[in-house]
Amino acid sequence: KCDANYVPLTPITFLQRASAVYADRTSVIYEGTHFTWRQTYERCCRLADSLRSLNVGKNDVVSVLAPNIPAVYEMHFAVPMAGAVLNTINTRLDAKSIATILSHSGAKVFFVDCQYKELADKALSFLNGSVPSVIASIDDIDTPTGFRLGQFEYEQLVQRGNPGYTGEMIQDEWDPIALNYTSGTTSAPKGVVYSHRGAYLSTLSLILGWEMGSAPVYLWSLPMFHCNGWTFTWGVAARGGTNVCIRNTSAKDMYRSIADHKVTHMCCAPIVFNILLEAKPHERREITSPVEILTGGAPPPASLLEKIESLGFHVTHAYGLTEATGPALVCEWQTKWNKLPLQDQAKLKARQGISILTLADTDIKDLDTMASMPRDGKTMGEIVLRGSSIMKGYFKDPEATSKAFRNGWFVTGDVGVIHPDGYLEIKDRSKDVIISGGENISSVELESVLYRHPRVLEAAVVAMPHPKWGESPCAFISVKMNSKGLTNDVKESDIIDYCRKNLPSFMIPKRVEFMAELPKTSTGKIQKFQLRELAKTFAVS
Ligand code: ADP
Repeated sequence: KCDANYVPLTPITFLQRASAVYADRTSVIYEGTHFTWRQTYERCCRLADSLRSLNVGKNDVVSVLAPNIPAVYEMHFAVPMAGAVLNTINTRLDAKSIATILSHSGAKVFFVDCQYKELADKALSFLNGSVPSVIASIDDIDTPTGFRLGQFEYEQLVQRGNPGYTGEMIQDEWDPIALNYTSGTTSAPKGVVYSHRGAYLSTLSLILGWEMGSAPVYLWSLPMFHCNGWTFTWGVAARGGTNVCIRNTSAKDMYRSIADHKVTHMCCAPIVFNILLEAKPHERREITSPVEILTGGAPPPASLLEKIESLGFHVTHAYGLTEATGPALVCEWQTKWNKLPLQDQAKLKARQGISILTLADTDIKDLDTMASMPRDGKTMGEIVLRGSSIMKGYFKDPEATSKAFRNGWFVTGDVGVIHPDGYLEIKDRSKDVIISGGENISSVELESVLYRHPRVLEAAVVAMPHPKWGESPCAFISVKMNSKGLTNDVKESDIIDYCRKNLPSFMIPKRVEFMAELPKTSTGKIQKFQLRELAKTFAVS
């Protein structure tokens, strides 16, 4: 690292290169606002210079609460160009959680978009005066509303900075670039630190893993606050592509953007498939050329994959976590699978896949002995990962950091099997496995059968206490409307009969509960913890 030719790896170089090579190509589109790569670079230089003049520098945390707008895209470069660390906050969190993040991260700057004024005000009120020293508002760049909060305004900061700013040169590629708080599905939120090096390498290997070619038109359907948009904030610059920004991931806005801008790529959680599939006729637009979707964050049921592909989307499935800089495994497609029936293809695609290039290895282990489990597609083990995509550690939490690793492996908290062809398939989060009469039941497997039922919209299966079996599966379901707009015509017995036809008897849910909508976390994942608590109250005879 001290060699004369050492140049630290940093995604900032992707933007510098894009502005030189693709200077006049469109970098960002947001409603009527368009920028080129030359302009985006210049705006980032200006903002970085302004941040420096506010005394923001090395290791200072810059937090932002905003949707997928150009400002957040620019901050992905401008903040590290000032030497600081970007902390994008999940906009679906409540004020208390946001206050906890601002306080734990010691944020020096807090940018707030006009859409989140009340939420930000409330979060700041919980901080009892120890607020970030710089508070800046972001007004809508396309349709300004006059929104102001704090002493500064984003566009003014951009305009007053020096476009010739040459940057706080990164000295060490292990310096932090981003701080992302986990959504806390299973524990209290923790601040995950990414290094310049990890971000650079993960970006490159995801572009390669997804085979993203030159000049993609990328729709921001995945929040940039999810692991920096699974690194595609930096990745679109690396490929000289175009970022299509939207405030809301409504079916109408997604279909409109896809048609108007000829979108080629987008990322989303499987839950977004339902939004696209359930769109009203007037919201839909025809998909005239294939749109590549990278999906992950939750298991996509094979039936849902089949349906979304029938609309003209082409899906690649990935698995990852905040701690792994987003997707760490991709279900790479083998051409020999093209000959298989569509249903079998969807089943193969529903597997989580193989390590991306920057992940040295993925394994399933017995955590007590750290012995590897057989790769027979049947024996479950705890999923462990190691390699350059894995985080530096948790911010200000050495205890949690050392607990997260075992013998150099990062322990994911998920359990799965590895098939003889090396592809990993998740069976559950360790906490979600249902153990019934000594038999392990994978809730993911059971849910994938429920999703095949034509009337099931959402499904989640959790353990319910059972006097004889210890635990038994309890299914929570929301139902699609029938042609008369009714949902209450589906009965518990219909669902159980359907399971009986498609599952071994020990896996059949002992109870089916209907809900209008299943409870979700701030990242849109079904909140099994809540359902488990509810299931504990059900008496089973
Ligand atoms: P949180 O752990 O708080 O939900 P993350 O966004 O880091 O926050 O979620 C990572 C978890 O999401 C993984 O540990 C795994 O349980 C789940 N997950 C991610 N991708 C997939 C996938 N493709 N299939 C199944 N589960 C997934």
